Amino acid sequence: MPQTIDFVIKGRRVYTPDGFMPLAVGAQDEKIVTITGLENAPRGREEYDAGDNPVLPGIIDPHTHMREPGYTRREDWTNGTRAAAAGGVTCVLEQPNSVPPVNCAENFRLKREIASAKAVVDFGLLGGAGEGTIHQMAEQAAEGAVAFKTYLWSYPDRSDEFDGIHTIDDGVLYQIFEQAADLGLPSCVHAENYRLVRTFSNRMLQEGRRAPIDHQKGRPVVAEVEAAWRAMIIARETGVQLNLLHISSGSAATAVKAWRGMGGQGVTVETCPTYLTLTEERLNEIGPYAKINPPLRSAEEQEILWDRIADGTIDTIGTDHAPHEFEAKEKGWRDIFAAPAGAPGVETSLRVMLTHVNAGRLSLERLVELMSVNVARVYGLYPRKGAIAVGSDADFVVVDLERRERIDPKRLHVKDPRVARIFEGFEAVGAPILTVVRGKPVMRDGEVIGEPGYGGFISRQN
Ligand SMILES: [Zn+2]
Repeated sequence: MPQTIDFVIKGRRVYTPDGFMPLAVGAQDEKIVTITGLENAPRGREEYDAGDNPVLPGIIDPHTHMREPGYTRREDWTNGTRAAAAGGVTCVLEQPNSVPPVNCAENFRLKREIASAKAVVDFGLLGGAGEGTIHQMAEQAAEGAVAFKTYLWSYPDRSDEFDGIHTIDDGVLYQIFEQAADLGLPSCVHAENYRLVRTFSNRMLQEGRRAPIDHQKGRPVVAEVEAAWRAMIIARETGVQLNLLHISSGSAATAVKAWRGMGGQGVTVETCPTYLTLTEERLNEIGPYAKINPPLRSAEEQEILWDRIADGTIDTIGTDHAPHEFEAKEKGWRDIFAAPAGAPGVETSLRVMLTHVNAGRLSLERLVELMSVNVARVYGLYPRKGAIAVGSDADFVVVDLERRERIDPKRLHVKDPRVARIFEGFEAVGAPILTVVRGKPVMRDGEVIGEPGYGGFISRQN
């Protein structure tokens, strides 16, 4: 080891799998090369002393929509990953519904090149699988996809964004799972039953109900529960690792618990800070800005979701960071069904979850599991990511558990802050104060200092 190494971070509360410890962690050439007691700390060209503030492995957001290529008026890679850096997120995993959608090697490479030139933090890409693209899954795996995503949905009018990454045909779904299992990659699904949602939504429309709250009524919990069960049953036959994304209801998470209780293996579950924090009431407050899919649920469903956090059923937390244009969202005040679904989240997730830690709803250790360690494990990135260990990437976030901050959209980095209202006014307690990607600070004291293009492409192989 050289006398002076690139970067050293010290703290009295550094995360390890065995608890928080007083440690000094040294990085050289982007990797962690030494972990010592504070008294033996190596010298670094750059040093940071976290004092009593916890040092965590970098947060990995497994669910973002950076909108580029395609809808760069909604978001782009530089903006979106600056938001990530500001939020303590060192790596994002990107969903395939850009324009063109990622559903073949060529489109995969296009997105990888754009993101490589613009990202401030590291990124991985999900491949897309759906109607007509099963034969293109292997080539996406070869390009470095971390997983596949399939919408159990029909998008006849939005082929620019969703072509080849959706299906409502269970036979197609079976073949996607079979192929993903062959390729050794997880298969992720958006689990809502299309025909049930169509029935309930049409009922709303026929009754002339177009208020914000009617969005939730048009997409009942049963649609998510059914789709989760169906996906688990079909997945088991193929041996694939199934990953249920953005599970919104406690009932659907409980289905996973029941399935595991019956011996069902190979299923992991993601939920989002939105579902753990906000209820359907938010639709009455901020209208279309609270329209997300699946929708915000009742307080009762949310309580059950927390039970599934507490008992270990839920594996990961992603944000479903999905900004839209202000004008498109505004249409939802008169007719909620006319507005697109989705809200920004990558910058606020850690603050929201730290607030729950401060409120005693989960431990800081459990937060690290849900937002870093388990994400890396599910997507095959562990221990390069999700660990403070010799040989891992030197990715850290330092958090100040006492910092109080009312979330103000105008201070967020998202493309158009006017659409970032979902957590507007939320009284956050706890905030990231330093974000380090591969030994280099990209955010310090709230200021993003990382350069576009520094973020690198991450796959299971590299
Ligand atoms: Zn999403």
